[in-house]
Amino acid sequence: MRIMIAGAGIGGLTLALAPHRRGLDVTVFEAVEQPKALGVDIG
Ligand SMILES: Cc1cc2nc3c(=O)[nH]c(=O)nc-3n(C[C@H](O)[C@H](O)[C@H](O)COP(=O)(O)OP(=O)(O)OC[C@H]3O[C@@H](n4cnc5c(N)ncnc54)[C@H](O)[C@@H]3O)c2cc1C
Repeated sequence: MRIMIAGAGIGGLTLALAPHRRGLDVTVFEAVEQPKALGVDIG
């Protein structure tokens, strides 16, 4: 099974971990080329 996730925010990356750890083929697509920090980190 191939899993595709749109968005490499904390939600998309967390979602990708579980199937990746089970050996499934996961690809995360991110629209932004250069990620930048926002805010003051996780509160
Ligand atoms: C200015 C600002 C400051 C913040 N400061 C804090 C803070 O200090 N502490 C805190 O805990 N939270 C903060 N937050 C909130 C926090 O950023 C969000 O709650 C969190 O990032 C949500 O994660 P997410 O994965 O749901 O979405 P996002 O982080 O928004 O990630 C979604 C990703 O999907 C990508 N994307 C969208 N559409 C597509 C597509 N069609 N194809 C591919 N990629 C796509 C976007 O480029 C983005 O990278 C702040 C938010 C903002 C806007």
